[in-house]
Amino acid sequence: MTNKIPPEHPRAESLRTREMLIEGFREGIVTLAGLIAHGRGEAFDYLLGEKTTKPALKATEAAAAAMLNAEKGIISVNGNTAALAAKHIAELAKISKARIEVNLFYRSLEREEAIKKLLIEAGAEKVLGAGKDASARIPELSSERRRVDPHGILIADVVLVPLEDGDRTEALVKMGKKIIAIDLNPLSRTAQKATITIVDNVVRAIPKLMETAEKLKKESADKREKILQSFDNKKNLSESIAFTEKRLAKIAKVGEFLVIGEEQDGL
Ligand code: ATP
Ligand code: MG
Repeated sequence: MTNKIPPEHPRAESLRTREMLIEGFREGIVTLAGLIAHGRGEAFDYLLGEKTTKPALKATEAAAAAMLNAEKGIISVNGNTAALAAKHIAELAKISKARIEVNLFYRSLEREEAIKKLLIEAGAEKVLGAGKDASARIPELSSERRRVDPHGILIADVVLVPLEDGDRTEALVKMGKKIIAIDLNPLSRTAQKATITIVDNVVRAIPKLMETAEKLKKESADKREKILQSFDNKKNLSESIAFTEKRLAKIAKVGEFLVIGEEQDGL
């Protein structure tokens, strides 16, 4: 189905991503709600110009530093993340020595097992959190997402949560964990509550995070700590919001918009 999309189509990349999610839905990895959530993300990506911005790169650097310096790092994976970035998640886990945990908003043993299988096939060594493995609870949360693996998210100091929900982000931060979120919407509660927010599409952000972690791995832990200390999430979120603001102001001036995302430099 994917190869039907002509490469010169202005929305080719975006359409390919949709196809991956539809495929994930057919395989029992992605839920209907996940498809809708993606639509919300896409709208923000359109406004952003569908490119990784400078503030997103800065947040990615801080996130890679946090993951490499973590004592117990975890990557929390839901259906959309698995469908869009399983291979890169597996590689990022290896580079950063993080563990991987399946954590779903709409839990079902079948879906957990399907995601686990997909991640293992993509190269993950071990996947926590499926079925009975998620026997611990996050305090203060009522949804099924409070269930976590006692060897994973519960005891982790740094948690990467691509596509998280606001309540859970807040609860995890309250538990004293460093939370790295990837969210195209800089205004969501997830984006606002996380310790480090990468305002970018997971399709672009996870490979970038992997590359950056590979690079920073060669640096000292002290240097990484400095990167982390000098990062200010509020300031970075402001820069991300300002990026869209300036981009839209530029387009609004002419009231016409033909080339997508070409005007990023210099903003
Ligand atoms: P919150 O619960 O944090 O307040 P929300 O309720 O507005 O957020 P949800 O429906 O919980 O949003 O989750 C969807 C979120 O995931 C949206 O904020 C959307 O921007 C983001 N999102 C969806 N797809 C992607 C993607 N591919 N890359 C990055 N972010 C995405
Ligand atoms: Mg939400």
